[in-house]
Amino acid sequence: MGHYFPRYTELGETYLIPQQPCRFEQAQLLLTNRNVLSDLGLDVNLPQLREYLAGLSQVDNIQPVAMAYCGHQFGQFNPQLGDGRAHLIASFVAADGHAYDMHLKGSGATVFSRGGDGFCALGPAIREYIMSQAMHSLGIPTTHCLAVLSTNQQVMRRAMEPGAVVCRVARSHIRVGTFQLMAMNKDVAAMQQLVELCIREYFSDITSTGEARVFDFFHQVCQQQCALILKWMQVGFIHGVMNTDNTLINGETIDYGPCAMMESFSFDTVFSSIDRHGRYAFGQQPNIASWNCGRLAESLMLLVDDKDAALERFSKVLSQFADDFNQGYQRMWSKKLGLLTWQESDKALLNELLSLMQQNKLDYTNTFAALTNSLHTSPLPTYTLPEALADWVTKWRKRICEGDLCEAHSLMQSVNPAVIPRNDMVEYFIAEFNQGANSDAFTSWLNALKTPYSYQAYPAQWLATMSNEQAYQTFCGT
Ligand code: AMP
Ligand code: MG
Repeated sequence: MGHYFPRYTELGETYLIPQQPCRFEQAQLLLTNRNVLSDLGLDVNLPQLREYLAGLSQVDNIQPVAMAYCGHQFGQFNPQLGDGRAHLIASFVAADGHAYDMHLKGSGATVFSRGGDGFCALGPAIREYIMSQAMHSLGIPTTHCLAVLSTNQQVMRRAMEPGAVVCRVARSHIRVGTFQLMAMNKDVAAMQQLVELCIREYFSDITSTGEARVFDFFHQVCQQQCALILKWMQVGFIHGVMNTDNTLINGETIDYGPCAMMESFSFDTVFSSIDRHGRYAFGQQPNIASWNCGRLAESLMLLVDDKDAALERFSKVLSQFADDFNQGYQRMWSKKLGLLTWQESDKALLNELLSLMQQNKLDYTNTFAALTNSLHTSPLPTYTLPEALADWVTKWRKRICEGDLCEAHSLMQSVNPAVIPRNDMVEYFIAEFNQGANSDAFTSWLNALKTPYSYQAYPAQWLATMSNEQAYQTFCGT
């Protein structure tokens, strides 16, 4: 690992406001993700990391900043968001040659706090730690949680709760909302800088010049968003708060607030307490990602002269999003079903399965895991096919037997996880941490989540559909 440096400095002080993180003298490091440390080649000792996270020392004298952005929250434009409880403390070049940010969440109030306390409760910090690690292991682009610090101070949420600081490590903290703020400010120079920064860091194969560069950039952002949503849907991830300020320009998952895994299958699944109309329901995610890209296009209009021609070009890219998604979606189901080729009649086969799953409230992960396992030469008794699917399975087997069973099995195993961070388990361990425990059971469960596509005889509770799915709610207040 080389040295630390301040990042995004070319954007200037309108977008990066110097802010001091809160000092938590009594804080303790609770969890450190050694995989993140070693994968990124980050050379920091734990006492030092604790000091950085607790606001007790600065990383190489780098001034921490809060980033400014705005965004659409549940469809409504909010002109002033920004890091209201977060500080970007430094960046570094990791072993993969890319720059990564070190970002604190829950590190105290900033100019963007809008009456919030700037803190983070331990429960949501633990959720972020679990979910970001699980998502990375599932092969989904994501920000990482390097560590969770217990502040040893209480924060007021629905009740008093222990406080925490999350240390997020990510290749980007540039959001669609960052562009929206520059568009609002009509700050052409800053937006040009930002486009160049993003191309340099995330889309370096773009070589076009002039306005074509803007459209090419937009196209690549759309492609990344499309790929991300397909991956979420492949594993049943529901982000829960896909606002434009929570949409990273490089297509990584950020902001594990009210997120949860879908268990019983339904496209309408929503867990977030504030998502009353299902705007961010499981099946709505592609539409919303495309809508968010539309907000980026609106912002990028600032950089083009002929607005009418630009509107046409941006719209074309957006309709390409829909086509790309539909193609990717078919490929996704094809893999999940072990179909080496896609025939017209497979659509009916898939739709019948999805209807049966919804009617019978079948678990998304377990159903596909059971189908996968059923093709193994010596299937594990842990994953059993639901009775309600018996007739459908006969049809599917017939279809599968047209191809190579072994190949079909490997294809299915590569996309159908055997173990995911189930909501009951997440809640169970959050409750344990809230009571001051950090059990061996947590460590072994977290270890299993590092190889989610490995089919093993896991403990039944790791695979059980949640007990009270109808009533399950998640909350924003990280
Ligand atoms: P989020 O829903 O986490 O994306 O947050 C939306 C906005 O609210 C961001 O600007 C956050 O920084 C801000 N925010 C959320 N929680 C707090 C808090 N406890 N104190 C201050 N700002 C907050
Ligand atoms: Mg956010």
